[in-house]
Amino acid sequence: MKITAVEAHVCNARMRNWVFVRVVTDEPGLHGWGEATLEWHTRAVVGAVEDLAELIVGEDPTRIEHLWQMMMRQHFWHGNDIVRGTALSGIDIALWDILGKALGQPVHRVLGSYGRSTLPVYASSLLFKPTAELLREAEGLAAQGFPGLKLKIGQGLEADLRNVREIRKVIGPQVRLMTDANCSYDTLGALELGRRLEAEGVYWFEEPVAPENLEGYEKLARALDMAIAGGETEFNRWAFKEYLQRQAMDIIQPDIARAGGFTEVRKIAALASAFDVPVAPHTGASSAVAVAASIQWAAALPNLLTFEHMYPPNPLREELLADPLPSPANGQIEVPQRPGLGIELSPQALARFRTS
Ligand SMILES: [Mg+2]
Repeated sequence: MKITAVEAHVCNARMRNWVFVRVVTDEPGLHGWGEATLEWHTRAVVGAVEDLAELIVGEDPTRIEHLWQMMMRQHFWHGNDIVRGTALSGIDIALWDILGKALGQPVHRVLGSYGRSTLPVYASSLLFKPTAELLREAEGLAAQGFPGLKLKIGQGLEADLRNVREIRKVIGPQVRLMTDANCSYDTLGALELGRRLEAEGVYWFEEPVAPENLEGYEKLARALDMAIAGGETEFNRWAFKEYLQRQAMDIIQPDIARAGGFTEVRKIAALASAFDVPVAPHTGASSAVAVAASIQWAAALPNLLTFEHMYPPNPLREELLADPLPSPANGQIEVPQRPGLGIELSPQALARFRTS
């Protein structure tokens, strides 16, 4: 089998772009889909997909490790490049989709499945909203059986604390409450807020400070008993190695469509397991393609902590597939068992959202 083409498809909805990668083979009807979405970098990622395509067209799509190394190393520049990393991730996901389809097995089985038929999920994320709306939403999610909820913070210490306290009152003591600051604090501010959040029983503090601020993560992880989480912006195992060696994160959150695809996230997770650090895969604003890939990865992941289920509406997650992804029930989401990623993109939906 040979790769005959690598295509980048850009889709747009609600002022956002998503990038999809389709790898086509010379086997009739056999192709794979991947996602390579990197907000504000659409053209750069599409260019990187086209550059990487030159290296792999004509190659055997099932030699994924070989192709990954070639795409990572052929250009010999320093490897920590998030644009190329995202393009590589999209291609890698598509290659695993092809391998699974060629073998007639879901990707989690090809990865040597951990045997999970469902994944434990948490609801993500309660966004900045008026308090009454926020509380209604939190109460509804707890009533649906989500064992954990994530709240966006970063509105200042008092406002963040007030939201945490009010939400706790409506969800009760059993539901885990996580907070995600999207890097909006400096180390000093995060430390002050973190001490107050842990006194409120918050389970994790996600991206308290900017990803470049490794010393800040290290300081926070040492000073706080609450778990420090992060890593959604990172590409490759060497980036995660820094956090792990410094014990700067208690939970890592690689995004499969950014951190290097299946080939790399399984290595990142293995590296984390040696430090006894669990993995909570990041899905964020991903489309159904990256979510499907994340589910397959998580189903094969021994050190999975919890899976991020994004509940706010996203047309590229809900309308892109011929058969939509399963919805969670009682805090669990079903793992699709069809070959590859277990998804088929709807040609009509793709045509409707596609801009180039
Ligand atoms: Mg986050």
